[in-house]
Amino acid sequence: MAARTHRWWSGLALLALTPAMLSLSAAQTAAPSPGTGPKYDLLLRGAHVVDARNKVSGVRDVAIAGGRIAEVSARIDPQDAVKTVDLKGLYVTPGLIDIHAHTYTGTGERRSYAGDNSVYPDGFTFRVGVTTVADAGCAGWRNFEDFKDRIIDRSRTRILAFLNIVGNGMRGGTYEQDLADMEVAPAVEMARKYSGLIVGIKTAHFAGPEWTPVEHAVEAGTMAGLPVMVDFGANRPERPLSELVTKKLRPGDIYTHVYSGLRGEQDPSGHVNPALLEGRKRGVIFDVGHGNGSFLWRIAVPAMKEGFVPDSISTDLHISSMNSGMKDMLNVMDKFLAMGMSIDDVIARSTWNPAREIKQDALGHLSVGAIADVTVLRVERGRFGLTDHNGARLDATERLVCELTVKDGKVVYDLNGISRPDWRTLPAGYGPTGDARWDGLNPAPIRR
Ligand SMILES: [Zn+2]
Repeated sequence: MAARTHRWWSGLALLALTPAMLSLSAAQTAAPSPGTGPKYDLLLRGAHVVDARNKVSGVRDVAIAGGRIAEVSARIDPQDAVKTVDLKGLYVTPGLIDIHAHTYTGTGERRSYAGDNSVYPDGFTFRVGVTTVADAGCAGWRNFEDFKDRIIDRSRTRILAFLNIVGNGMRGGTYEQDLADMEVAPAVEMARKYSGLIVGIKTAHFAGPEWTPVEHAVEAGTMAGLPVMVDFGANRPERPLSELVTKKLRPGDIYTHVYSGLRGEQDPSGHVNPALLEGRKRGVIFDVGHGNGSFLWRIAVPAMKEGFVPDSISTDLHISSMNSGMKDMLNVMDKFLAMGMSIDDVIARSTWNPAREIKQDALGHLSVGAIADVTVLRVERGRFGLTDHNGARLDATERLVCELTVKDGKVVYDLNGISRPDWRTLPAGYGPTGDARWDGLNPAPIRR
């Protein structure tokens, strides 16, 4: 226990907290009445709640119990909660969902998204409010179970996956060009075996002229009842984007990298390719997938002005994007704020829209009974710069900062200690300051 106490309070971080920050931390702890205890574990109080599914955008209190949303209303009594966190002036949203990330690392394979090009998710998620990622096809049926054992089962982030139509997944080079390894039957079998974990089929990085990768992915998606996500690879006249989005993809299939400009998303006159509009009418989904080669201001700004907004906002997180034009999920969301999208629309496209796209109805909203993944955001105002994949900058006056992240009802990230007590209020020799009913960081044993 002493070691845990030291870990929590070690370093000089506390000294950097200003009095204003300390007064922000108006956290209260109700004394449980003997035998019964408060009915809620955690109460998030007084924030502006944005919940697209339930069409809520206003100040609400949100109560959590047993890892689920228990009540959302204008006022909930702090006496009913083990822990209350005062969030006036902040936003409360469902936990952010990033449906395009690359997380199958740790295999030791070089130049491979089933290896060194991927990242361990927990270092990139809770600190920016992301509670769920969908890995975008790093593994295929041959290596999905290794991915599951190595990453999915050992991460605190909720990880879902698009299964690559290539049996070997994104091992790079010739693997991803091997038409013979794009087999429908074993992919469907694996998707059925891990139903609920595998949430889609992916095709990506294909350079050849054939439609086979797309056709096999769609066939597998149809048989498994899952959407397909397409990274359309090299731009080939034999398989134009227009045919993909107006004929080959089904309603609900996802075209990612929509602002890359690499495959004719913008026509030569500078307007959105009319085929994308037709695809949208058919129900094809358009996703950002920023990455390190798929987001340009010269494509995105005119498209947004014409009203061609993305259905979902995602990062395409990997080792080459994480420190480049793309920084993290909030940075990609900031870009849409800067292009004039409302904060409610930005949040919808980072929560409920992606949840629906991957058919995860228990995520992405704050209905009573939903999984209690919750993100607390602050809108910071100042002078900021946002860069695209070619390093071109757009100036911005707002950015989102993640103050607090709650996963499955427990605090898993708290930037400024707003859920924590001022150390001067604690007894001498204090131990862990949390409670396992709400604290996922350093809880003390539950005392009832
Ligand atoms: Zn990707």
